[in-house]
Amino acid sequence: MLSRRLEALTPYVPGEQPRDRKYLKLNTNENPWPPSPRIEALLREYDPDQLRLYPDPWSLSLRQKIARKYSVDVDNIFVGNGSDEILSFVWYAFFDGLYGKLIFPQFTYSFYPVYCDFYEIPYRRIPLRPDFTLDLDAMIENEGEPSCGMAFPNPNAPTGIALTLKQIEDLLNRYPTDRVVVIDEAYIDFGGESAVGLIDRYANLLIARTFSKSFSLAGLRLGYALGSPELIRALFVTKDSFNSYTVGRLTQTIGEIAIEDEAWFAEKIARIIEARNFFSEELKGQGWQVLPSKANFVFVRKPGLTGQTIYETLKERGILVRYFNVEGIRDFVRVTIGKREDMARLLEELKRLF
Ligand SMILES: *Cc1c(COP(=O)(O)O)cnc(C)c1O
Repeated sequence: MLSRRLEALTPYVPGEQPRDRKYLKLNTNENPWPPSPRIEALLREYDPDQLRLYPDPWSLSLRQKIARKYSVDVDNIFVGNGSDEILSFVWYAFFDGLYGKLIFPQFTYSFYPVYCDFYEIPYRRIPLRPDFTLDLDAMIENEGEPSCGMAFPNPNAPTGIALTLKQIEDLLNRYPTDRVVVIDEAYIDFGGESAVGLIDRYANLLIARTFSKSFSLAGLRLGYALGSPELIRALFVTKDSFNSYTVGRLTQTIGEIAIEDEAWFAEKIARIIEARNFFSEELKGQGWQVLPSKANFVFVRKPGLTGQTIYETLKERGILVRYFNVEGIRDFVRVTIGKREDMARLLEELKRLF
C-alpha cells in the first residue's frame, strides 16, 4: 500500500504541545507575548465573505510590504506557509546530488536532514568547533569534494550562537557562486546581524525568515524568503507545481498588518533580549554553562546533569524545556526565553532542584 519512498522516511519530531496540564512552555521557541493588537482589531471587523474566494497566489500585497520593510524589490520576496514549507521548496529547487553533497552543521535545525531524505539529496554534517561555533572553513572545504549547496541557521539552532556579517560575506566570497547558500534567519531579529543587505551582490544567497518567532505568530504559519529574482522565480515554479495557494487569504492580511506594527515589534524584541540577558547571567551565577545566544533561547548545561534529567525533573514541576538525545549535546537543554517573570520562576526551580 505504501510507496517505497515513504517507507524510507523518518519524519521530523516537533516539540511537544501537551494538553494534559498547563505548562510553562519554554520548549518550542514561541514568543511569550500576544501578537500585535492590530490583529485583534482586524479579526473583529473581518468579513468572512472574503473567504469564499481563493487568495492571491502571488501574495503581491504582502510581498510589497515585506519588500518595503527591507528596502528591496517585490521580486526579491517569496512567501510560504511557514518557513518550513519554504525550506522544503528550497531543498527541492536548488540542491541536486548530481553536483555533490549538501553541507550543513552537525548540530543544527533537525529538519534539514529530513528534507534531504525526502528529496534524496546526499548531505554532510560538518562538526562544530569545540566552542560550538560553526566551522566555516570545513564547510567550504567539504573534505575536498564539491558540494551542491550549503544551509545553516543564523543564529544557529539549538546553540543560539550567531555569525557576524563579516564572516558571512567572507564565506560567500570563498564559495562557488553557482551553488546556493541558504541562511535560515528564523531568530535573527533577536540580536544577530542579518545578511539581507547582501542579496543584491550574491545571486546565490537565499535568506529564509518566519513570522513564528519574532512576530509571535507561530500559529498563523507564515514565512518569507529574500533572494535574487532568479532564486525567487525558482521558488514560484516549485510552489506552483505543488499547490498554488499555500498562503491563505486571512494569513496574508494578518501578515501585512503584523509587519507594519514596528512599535510592537521593537518593544517585544527588547523585552525578550532583556529577559535572555537576565536569565543567562543569573544561570551562570548558579554554575551553569550558557552558550552566548543571539536568539530567543539559550543552550545550557551543568556538570553532572544530562539533558533528559533536567527535562524530566522540570516537567514534573510544570515547566517544559527541550533536550536532544544526540551524542555531543546530550548534556544540554534548550530553554526558550519567555517573559522575565517566567525566567525568574525557572531560575528558582533550577536553584532548588539542581
Ligand atoms: C522555527 C524554525 C523554523 C520554522 O519556522 P516556521 O515558519 O514556523 O515553519 C525554521 N528554521 C529554524 C531554524 C527554526 O527554528
